Amino acid sequence: MYSGQSSTLSQGHRGITVQELWDFYDPESSWLEAQRWRCGICHKSCCCEKCVEPEPTQEAETRTQEEGEDEGGSDDNFAEEVVEQIGAVFAGIERKVAEEKRAWRMCFNRFKPETHGRCSHCGAEGGPGRWEERNLYEVVEHMVKPICAQLRVSYVELLRRGPEGEEMEGVKPDTFVSHWWGEEFPKFVRTLTCFAEARSRRLPWTVCTTPHRNPKTWAFWICAFANNQYAIEHALGDFSSDVTPRTAVMTSAFATALDAVSDVVAVLDDRAIIYTRIWCCFELFSVARLIPDR
Ligand SMILES: [Zn+2]
Ligand SMILES: [Zn+2]
Repeated sequence: MYSGQSSTLSQGHRGITVQELWDFYDPESSWLEAQRWRCGICHKSCCCEKCVEPEPTQEAETRTQEEGEDEGGSDDNFAEEVVEQIGAVFAGIERKVAEEKRAWRMCFNRFKPETHGRCSHCGAEGGPGRWEERNLYEVVEHMVKPICAQLRVSYVELLRRGPEGEEMEGVKPDTFVSHWWGEEFPKFVRTLTCFAEARSRRLPWTVCTTPHRNPKTWAFWICAFANNQYAIEHALGDFSSDVTPRTAVMTSAFATALDAVSDVVAVLDDRAIIYTRIWCCFELFSVARLIPDR
């Protein structure tokens, strides 16, 4: 039952902020952004030697160790602050360079042959497909589920657990995200970041009714993070009792979350596959039905 009016947000009604999305993304950026052949038959990304580069784990480990050693030393607060600020500047530059590299990689990718040998999953030989980064199916399987495995909760629920395991209040989502999971995740995160920036900055050409705020605090309802991936049947609505499918579908996490937000963004993929997915069509239908009343 929808409990949006109660003082604590129920698990399914918690959002994930832009900052939290990037905190999730950054440590795994090289895995997420690696271009691999996505087979058009089984839709999995290829794991052959040509697609998967050896992981540079040793170098990364040494670097984190060195960083750890640096942290211990000085008592001088001023010096620490200066070092922190310089660090922030370098982190900013590092991000810019990484973005530039990714743009080049994507540009270079356009010239890669549009065929690939044998698919390492289904074995299709030179079948249809294309070079892509990781999508949300893979992100849920390889990142969200392992991170939440111990407590078997949703990712947003995990974010609200304090250091002692105590429960803290979640962030109310500002925007519901309608999307399909086959979209490349790096593009998805950047799209939402741009959306949050546009909505936060009161640019003259945006229809913006919210006061200025830090775009990193903009919170989204994203099914992959809001729904418990270990109990996904609960999110799909109560079809067990004597109710009609029409009533049952309105008890789904998608419908109740839509009811709790003031706006919705649809992330369109370049082939508009989103509207071949029934839940996305349902979301569009619900928005058309609900939003005019607000
Ligand atoms: Zn391959
Ligand atoms: Zn395949």
